[in-house]
Amino acid sequence: MIKNIKQIFNENKYLVGRVDVRSTNECWNWLRGTREGYGRVRVLGKKVSVHRLVYEIFYGSIPESKPVIRHKCDNRLCVNPLHLLSGTIVDNVSDRVVRNRSAKGEASGRAKISKNDVEQIRKRYVPYKVTMKSLSLEYGICLRQVWMIITNRSWKS
Ligand SMILES: [Zn+2]
Repeated sequence: MIKNIKQIFNENKYLVGRVDVRSTNECWNWLRGTREGYGRVRVLGKKVSVHRLVYEIFYGSIPESKPVIRHKCDNRLCVNPLHLLSGTIVDNVSDRVVRNRSAKGEASGRAKISKNDVEQIRKRYVPYKVTMKSLSLEYGICLRQVWMIITNRSWKS
């Protein structure tokens, strides 16, 4: 199976030498021209998206009911056929919503920590010695969270 995929990439004139082919669990990045982050290639005089072309080469024509080719890996340059799946426009929007949500979660420093961590942080905090700053770095949470834990404010685990 893996051998076949790589073989097709080596034999297809649109793909050969233009893709960073790696092991199947890695992303295979397109090495040539792009538009809006997606690889582009000229096929029969028409510019097409490479990930859509690759999908059709490996899985057949893109279903009308699921016309959007999505990346499981969230990497637009990737043309690894195992990272592609077809979906509806709604799927594509929900992918984006989920992505934004997780990005915001990380940005606000809302890392998940356990009840046990909370107890440890309360025990270990010693002003000017084990500081809130060092605890926040160690547990990967923001200063405000450390402060809330130490001062026994509402804590939702
Ligand atoms: Zn990928």
